[in-house]
Amino acid sequence: MADLNLMEKIVSLAKRRGFISPGSEIYGGLAGTFDYGPYGVLLKENVERLWLQMFRDGRDDMYGVDAAILMNPKVWEASGHVSGFSDPLTECEKCKKRLRADQLDDPEKCPECGGKLGNVRQFNMMFKTHAGATEDESATVYLRPETAGGIFMNYKNVIDSIHPKLPFGIAQIGKAFRNEIAPRDFIFRLRELQQMEVEYFVKPSDWEQSFEEWRKMMHLYASAVGLPETSIHELEVPESDRAHYSKRTIDFEFDYPFGRKELWGLAYRTDFDLSAHEKSSGVSLAYQDEDPPAGGKSKFIPHIIEPSLGVDRTILAVLVSAYREDELGGEMRTFLALAPKIAPIKAMVSPLLKNKPELVKKAREVREELRRIHPSIAWDDNGNIGKRYRRQDEIGTPFCITIDFDTLGENPSLKDTVTLRHRDTGDQERLTISEVVARIREAIQ
Ligand code: ATP
Repeated sequence: MADLNLMEKIVSLAKRRGFISPGSEIYGGLAGTFDYGPYGVLLKENVERLWLQMFRDGRDDMYGVDAAILMNPKVWEASGHVSGFSDPLTECEKCKKRLRADQLDDPEKCPECGGKLGNVRQFNMMFKTHAGATEDESATVYLRPETAGGIFMNYKNVIDSIHPKLPFGIAQIGKAFRNEIAPRDFIFRLRELQQMEVEYFVKPSDWEQSFEEWRKMMHLYASAVGLPETSIHELEVPESDRAHYSKRTIDFEFDYPFGRKELWGLAYRTDFDLSAHEKSSGVSLAYQDEDPPAGGKSKFIPHIIEPSLGVDRTILAVLVSAYREDELGGEMRTFLALAPKIAPIKAMVSPLLKNKPELVKKAREVREELRRIHPSIAWDDNGNIGKRYRRQDEIGTPFCITIDFDTLGENPSLKDTVTLRHRDTGDQERLTISEVVARIREAIQ
């Protein structure tokens, strides 16, 4: 059942605590755009870094690129986006609201005012703009609707400069733009979004094996960012619903509070893209196999497996999975049970009292020591210690460290020990500073 109350709480926490807020908010916002604030940007970077580790840097067959967002419009003509990247649009004859026709319970009736809906027409979702000091059609360029286009444009550069053997892949993180008819559900359906995409080039006969490998990797990544296996569901997309380039697609769906919806996609794009770009550009995009199997071809267009992950939808799924409310020490509290690897702040260091210079000095030393293992170590000496812990709980900080007089040696047997407090349970332990450093290092690795 949809839990819209949970959604409201997440949106409110995200805004209140500097994670995510509506874009250009003081002007009333701009539909389909959101900004990441100080904690949001750290969370986003961690989600992306983990993806880079698992999908690119931890492998020998992957290369990175960072392609331009603006591209020659022929890229999108050849890929089929100019003619086919559209959603069905209908308009209410009474209130004039524009709606996506394939998302309506009743295709005849406006869900807002009950008015009659007009004819359905296809609406192209690419944002158009003009390059240079002219606004005529010949200068039309598009903001890329997926990062994949930039990867296809770099396939030849990677082959020519790195000479990789098949199978190999190219990974890219970047912005994509879609003029969605109805942006909604916070950062779920945006007009400006961030994608993490891999195009993995294989011999045509190997596509099924690679498809399975990436499918497994996507599950591993889901678990690494803290999404419970039970909240992820694979949907085999039927041919009638697949994108024009795909022979097989699995949608990874997630149980969002507003229903089960697409989180990520895994597609077998065949040789559609490279063949289309070869034909349109006149430049050969064939791969030369130096060591072809007996009877096999030495020159051919590789086929492509594409795991495509939206950063924003991942972050929303992470927040939904991590949001908790419980009672601790007789008080209600809200906390984010984020995986330490992706938590924006790894630990908070605090002197028990802020007006005792010797405590502050020691606490600063401990903080500096921790910062050598990770830069995101917070400092808080405001208000009572319980309140400091609660503030960190709400942003998902897994550890809090308190320096007191025993740390300084008031009780000699406790000298150089600190209190380590755990976010999820509120449990506290007395450990040496080096034990704490080791614990945190291990948790965030
Ligand atoms: P939907 O069916 O929900 O419109 P899609 O099938 O068009 O999504 P893809 O083209 O497969 O999406 O894009 C790859 C990934 O990019 C998606 O799985 C999702 O994570 C992300 N994504 C796509 N559109 C949006 C959007 N408007 N806002 C946020 N993320 C998006």
